[in-house]
Amino acid sequence: MTDTIFTKIINREIPADIVYEDDLCLAFRDVNPQAPVHLLIIPKEPIATINDIKPEQREVVGHLFMTAGNIARDMGFDEDGYRAVMNCNAAAGQTVYHIHLHLLAGKQLGWPPYTDKMKV
Ligand code: 5GP
Repeated sequence: MTDTIFTKIINREIPADIVYEDDLCLAFRDVNPQAPVHLLIIPKEPIATINDIKPEQREVVGHLFMTAGNIARDMGFDEDGYRAVMNCNAAAGQTVYHIHLHLLAGKQLGWPPYTDKMKV
């Protein structure tokens, strides 16, 4: 897979407001926030979409969710609540093809997140 903008952020080739990093993942503030807190948690290993997750990558994907919980506790919004969501492909609005968990918090989040009637 070709490098995305997120690989450049991992490699510090472009700047980002990084809030957490470990061997497996990086978390930074979304450049176009949709909530008072809007972080992106990404694996350092590039995986294009949810459809591309291989069995041996289960641990790193689980690690993204565990990291979301840890960040929520550290930032103090774990009890109030938050949303951790990953978009897959065009119909969900995925624009960067390196999987990322959106971590949204700091306001009452609407649900469902769409307004038109969708039939699958
Ligand atoms: P998607 O639509 O693929 O689920 O989410 C991609 C997210 O990446 C968007 O919310 C967008 O605002 C964010 N984003 C795109 N380019 C950059 C960037 O260069 N820096 C940061 N911090 N966020 C970005």
